[in-house]
Amino acid sequence: MTPDIAAARAALGHLDIDDNPVSVRAKSRDFFWYSPVLKARLDHLTADFVVAPRSEAEVIETLRVCHAHNVPVTVRGAGTGNYGQAMPLAGGCVLHLKHLDRVTAVHPGRVICQPGALLRDVDAACNAHGQELRMFSSTWATATIGGFIAGGSGGIGSCTWGQLRDLGNILRLRVVTMEETPRVLEFRGEELSRVSHAYGTNGVITEVEMPLAPAYDWVGLFVAVDDFDAAARLALDLANEDGILIKLASVFEAPTAQDYFQRVRPHIRDGEHLVALMIAPHAMDAFGVFLSRRPGARLIYRSDAHDWDRDPGPVFEYGWNHTTLRALKVDPAITYLQVLYPGDPYPKMAKMRALFGAEVLQHLEVIRAGGTCGFASLSLVKFTTEERLEEIVRLHEAHGCFVFNPHRYTLEEGGRQHRDEGQLSFKREADPKGLLNPGKMIGWDDPDFDYATIWHYPGMKAAE
Ligand code: FAD
Repeated sequence: MTPDIAAARAALGHLDIDDNPVSVRAKSRDFFWYSPVLKARLDHLTADFVVAPRSEAEVIETLRVCHAHNVPVTVRGAGTGNYGQAMPLAGGCVLHLKHLDRVTAVHPGRVICQPGALLRDVDAACNAHGQELRMFSSTWATATIGGFIAGGSGGIGSCTWGQLRDLGNILRLRVVTMEETPRVLEFRGEELSRVSHAYGTNGVITEVEMPLAPAYDWVGLFVAVDDFDAAARLALDLANEDGILIKLASVFEAPTAQDYFQRVRPHIRDGEHLVALMIAPHAMDAFGVFLSRRPGARLIYRSDAHDWDRDPGPVFEYGWNHTTLRALKVDPAITYLQVLYPGDPYPKMAKMRALFGAEVLQHLEVIRAGGTCGFASLSLVKFTTEERLEEIVRLHEAHGCFVFNPHRYTLEEGGRQHRDEGQLSFKREADPKGLLNPGKMIGWDDPDFDYATIWHYPGMKAAE
């Protein structure tokens, strides 16, 4: 099944197509370099050409032509994924959805839009109707809604609404298959999990319908706390205060803020831990009472009334994966891990802090799962070697923590280390030649893989 790149490129020549090697390389890259492990493996990769369709019909045409010529297709939203989700491992065509950016309709409780619309723009359209997205990634200003659904998991809003793949958080997806004659399918309910968070390995999303919440002028806050456990408890207890509406609760172990948050640094004392919050304006009085009951916690910033010389910008751009980005900008040796602490999180966090000290700093995000609030940790790790990183993962697991490894480019290794039968069976139907984002689904290429080592996609383009 040899790809005929020249034939596909020629057949698509009337579309918005780019084969300038410099810009094609730029459009073939995402934030994979967040991980030193992925950087070492994926840095050389580039597609052969980029097509930017202007309509669903052009998506269909591109998929049909590439199918006929055995050319791999990797979908791209804005390329902010940080596990190499949008990296074209086998080269071929990058399908760039930048032109499919229309917000089609805003109804009470739901929005319909094209996948290439930026989260920020979808929110702006909804705000005009007094509504907003329930949740968004911290890349709100730059990422697309299609990329968030296909490559992300949750974010700001997840402390109230749960994660993207929880029932009810996506309403409908329209999906194009990659067959001899591509089909257009509409997914709702149970079927949504077959294509959401599937990295575009089994279909191209061409329309999305998402649920909305009432819009608020959220107040962004920073609270400094003298003790780490007290900071974590403040965030979690606040999320569990039934009457106080919040959209974000993040915790940063000292000295994260002192070392990496330049505009916060002048306002926080040595040794203090930082909590970042977004609270609905009408809940601020109640929050004042909540905070007054927490000795050792002091409010250092609120976005609606502050005297800081330098505005810190949106508070959510300190949380989720923006924490890692800010740390990386100061210290390029920083990377991170995604950790869950099943059961009582506090003893496990204390154990990890004692075990690793400054090598692993706790960064917690409060998320709601199954109706209960808990922590997802995106711990900052001072990287030395791959071997040590693997050892840090093993030590977490040995102490009952669960690690979603962000240093892997496959769905399975970055997730729960087993294949998703729903996604795999849909790939068999929708992408029989295995041309959509090849190398990202181990279940397709290597069903007997045992996850004892890092998986290597045999079809990966070699470095020149
Ligand atoms: P891309 O990176 O372009 O694509 C992501 C994946 O989806 C790729 O596999 C791509 O092939 C596929 N894809 C894109 N569009 C489609 C489509 N229409 N149909 C089928 N497949 C498609 N993630 C979170 O979940 N929460 C966060 O808070 C968060 N914060 C981040 C902060 C930073 C600083 C960075 C660098 C990353 C962060 N991420 C986060 C990861 C990423 O930004 C988000 O997942 C983001 O929403 C991806 O959107 P994108 O448009 O950049 O997608």
